[in-house]
Amino acid sequence: MRISIIGLEDERFSRPLRLIANLFFEESQILTANAEEADIQIKFTLQVNKHVSVFAELKDNNGKVYVSEYQKEMVSSDSEKEWFKQLKNAVAHAYLTVLQDFSGITQKWGILTGVRPTKLLHRKIQEGVPLAAAHQQLKEDYLITDEKIKLMQQIVDRQLSVVPDLYSLQKEVSIYIGIPFCPTKCAYCTFPAYAINGRQGSVDSFLGGLHYEMKKIGAWLKEKGVRITTVYYGGGTPTSITANEMDMLYEEMYDSFPDVENIREITVEAGRPDTITPEKLEVLKKWNIDRISINPQSYTQETLKAIGRHHTVTETVEKYHLARSMGMNNINMDLIIGLPGEGVPEFTHSLAETEKLMPESLTVHTLSFKRASEMTKNKEKYKVAGRDEAEKMMELAEVWTEGHGYVPYYLYRQKNILGNLENVGYSLPNQESIYNIMIMEEQQTIIGLGCGAASKFIDPITGKITHFANPKDPKSYNDGFAAYTEEKLKILDELFSEKGSPA
Ligand code: SF4
Repeated sequence: MRISIIGLEDERFSRPLRLIANLFFEESQILTANAEEADIQIKFTLQVNKHVSVFAELKDNNGKVYVSEYQKEMVSSDSEKEWFKQLKNAVAHAYLTVLQDFSGITQKWGILTGVRPTKLLHRKIQEGVPLAAAHQQLKEDYLITDEKIKLMQQIVDRQLSVVPDLYSLQKEVSIYIGIPFCPTKCAYCTFPAYAINGRQGSVDSFLGGLHYEMKKIGAWLKEKGVRITTVYYGGGTPTSITANEMDMLYEEMYDSFPDVENIREITVEAGRPDTITPEKLEVLKKWNIDRISINPQSYTQETLKAIGRHHTVTETVEKYHLARSMGMNNINMDLIIGLPGEGVPEFTHSLAETEKLMPESLTVHTLSFKRASEMTKNKEKYKVAGRDEAEKMMELAEVWTEGHGYVPYYLYRQKNILGNLENVGYSLPNQESIYNIMIMEEQQTIIGLGCGAASKFIDPITGKITHFANPKDPKSYNDGFAAYTEEKLKILDELFSEKGSPA
């Protein structure tokens, strides 16, 4: 869809306008000239004084006109950025309303295009805004529907009951450890995931670098008395390395990190069932790993084949039972809504199979077309469900989880996600992943170690976020891990040392 925009000269409007257009139409293009090439034309009239008033008039190719209007008081601010944000939200408001009218599609998340909607509600609670007023503001300022506000509140309540000190954990950190190998690469994946076979040399060097990072960062944490809240091994698939390599890695964790016995939660993703063996489960038990993930994604065999997961449905179920029998008592399983060729019948089947296993948590993802994935590059090869069917599947997940005692406890959204839906983590009560709450709500620093690991440093006082990413490919990581570690230590020093020692 080509949309010609008139009346908004500031270039900073282009990106938010495009992101919102993408909620309605595939591959939108915002044109500021060439109106004759456009499918629709939207003319904005913007007036700013104590209030911002936005008038939007949409004209389609048949000459039909749709209009919307929005007005809001401007809150005075010294920051240009904050000031522009208010204008941007007001424009988005009028823009979304007129596009909803034109397309007949209601956007349940309103003008929000970001990843973490629940953060908004946490912020209001932290600012002391009463709940009813906070809900009203979310509805008015962002056009979020009651249904989604209810979901946000449910999740926030759950998070605060699992982590009652969520708002005061900024002087602790969590650790993410990225292992960039998988048995094969899935078609929708853009994670650092290199097929492991035939790469032992690269695995050895990578693990050498990772041990180094763990030692250095662990020593810093010990020296500064900074505690670890949670540790998460992700990737890739952390169980694609050998049992012996896993054993040495967890031993390193116990040797290097402070007070490991009191870390609230250690998770290891064992996502691909084809990597799970009795020996590896022994190792996980030996080092008291609290939580693992075994991810079916779907219980339809053809789907697994179509997306490049070289394991069978039977293997998923067998490995799940094996993990259970060996004492793993907090298992997460992921399902994906909208995998190629799947609709309501396949998803209903996946839920019915899940019922036989009853994992402690179930994360329901919605397929997203990430730019670099195989699936996005060859979109025509993969037939996926439409918006309405994706919504039906999401509803099925909501009803099923509620009926089986699961509660939603975290959620995030992605760009180009099917039906503009979301990913929701459900769990049985008291089996939630604390790490998932920490990563979503951005209340504390997460230090990323290993390949593709993104660190997120959160200033314990101002809350300002600094990002730092290790390289995604093992070769660059192996060449530069010492320098990356140094960089991170420098940032940590600035954040934690100069502002006094942790309380
Ligand atoms: S198992 Fe996970 S990390 Fe590995 S290729 Fe598939 S989606 Fe990517």
